[in-house]
Amino acid sequence: MKVAIDQARCNACGLCREVCPESAIHPKYLEIRHLYEVDLGRCTGCGDCLEYCPAPGALVESA
Ligand code: SF4
Ligand code: SF4
Repeated sequence: MKVAIDQARCNACGLCREVCPESAIHPKYLEIRHLYEVDLGRCTGCGDCLEYCPAPGALVESA
């Protein structure tokens, strides 16, 4: 399992990045709203980030 961010729902709070033990989530610096994205090469699918996301549906499991 990996996770993915639905950028239409993400509020860019950054909590998922703070809790990720693999540093797999980082801001898209070229995106004007500083949205976040998941580095699938680093994500282990631990699911820690899912518990912290305050925006319903923004951080979801992906295949
Ligand atoms: S599932 Fe785990 S490793 Fe993957 S982004 Fe979330 S906290 Fe990081
Ligand atoms: S915790 Fe959720 S709302 Fe906050 S930056 Fe991550 S995906 Fe976006």
